[in-house]
Amino acid sequence: MASNQRSSPSVERPPSTPSDAEPESGLETARRQLARAASQLEIDDNVVERLRHPAKVHEVTIPLERDDGSVEVFTGYRAQHDSVRGPYKGGLRYHPDVTRDECVGLAMWMTWKCAVMDLPFGGAKGGVVVDPKSLTDDETERLTRRFTQEIREVIGPTIDIPAPDMGTDPQVMAWLMDAYSMQEGETIPGVVTGKPPVIGGSRGREQAPGRSVAIVTRESCDYYDYPLSETTVAIQGFGSVGANAARLLEEWGATVVAVSDVNGAIYDPDGLDVAAIPSHDEEPEAVTRYAEETGDVTRLSNDELLALDVDVLIPAAVGNVLTEDNADDVRADLVVEGANGPTTFAADAILEERGVAVIPDILANAGGVTVSYFEWLQDINRRQWTLERVNEELEAEMLAAWNGVRDAVETRDVTWRDGAYVVALERIAAAHDARGLWP
Ligand code: GLU
Repeated sequence: MASNQRSSPSVERPPSTPSDAEPESGLETARRQLARAASQLEIDDNVVERLRHPAKVHEVTIPLERDDGSVEVFTGYRAQHDSVRGPYKGGLRYHPDVTRDECVGLAMWMTWKCAVMDLPFGGAKGGVVVDPKSLTDDETERLTRRFTQEIREVIGPTIDIPAPDMGTDPQVMAWLMDAYSMQEGETIPGVVTGKPPVIGGSRGREQAPGRSVAIVTRESCDYYDYPLSETTVAIQGFGSVGANAARLLEEWGATVVAVSDVNGAIYDPDGLDVAAIPSHDEEPEAVTRYAEETGDVTRLSNDELLALDVDVLIPAAVGNVLTEDNADDVRADLVVEGANGPTTFAADAILEERGVAVIPDILANAGGVTVSYFEWLQDINRRQWTLERVNEELEAEMLAAWNGVRDAVETRDVTWRDGAYVVALERIAAAHDARGLWP
């Protein structure tokens, strides 16, 4: 189906081409992307200068009593980037690699993501430097409640609304909501999104990021004249995002030929039965078990998966997986970013040069925060929507955002990432302009 195959063989890079010589932090990537997008827009330099910096970064110490009675101290962050369009919004991650800079970069991406989707939110991100697998459930609960207490004064349903991210889940959000509500003396479901539906969570929220990745993949295939029924897809990461995207794309007719988890990838050129593979959250070793039980699939490394000759590649695991070192190996025509920040700035330049379209994270996985917005509305109104309504409204919001970005791409002849930044920055800059700088 590679009718409008846009790839070209590997080329010599001019010296001015960005490089990943030093591993790039999320903040560096976010700042470089901002500078590049701003240079293509008639946007006030003073606004860009403000957007290069977070409004606030909170760093807290979290003493945790381990189950054996010993006390261990962890560090937590909440970076609040920009709130010109509404309360700060973004996930909390529990991961050993969480840093202050990473939280700031991810918070910037949330500002753009909410603006691309035209949601009345700004951007935030936070986390705790911890390996969640090293904690028992009781320890995770105590850590979450103490972290909530430490950031209690800077979050709230009209101030900053956390949500799940890597290493956190609806149960963690439930503990956060409970700890906050107990201190406030009333039940305040709107302080957090991604909660279990029994306490004000939205139906369809857990599946939403994967659903939006699938919708955006479907629209991009349509744009490039790739019928889904003839499209092959490889997905790196089989967590909630990758698994839900895989299931929907398969349901809509695409052939998912490869998926992976941290242990490695499995590949079948005739297509995998993705509906039969539980996600990493449902069963951590499921990809390996499927390989053992099925027998006739090829085992690959995660790096080999990224280089498969497929139509669509969906990196849906961690950040910085497509780099200067492997961007030339990518043989997909289209990359749809399921994870946040999977492509470094240098890799982005290489893929652009090679004619590989990259649909950016701030559009592709924005279904998560969009259904978070629906959840927040349901919490304010104390009224739950049906799953059908959630999915219908998500589809409508995704199509509206897709159309807006596509118009920017066509009108300005820019990449999809730049198109998404243009849409977001125009909205954010207009809001800063209208509100002004005070005092
Ligand atoms: N952590 C998710 C993201 O990166 C969701 C954020 C939210 O729902 O606030 O988009």
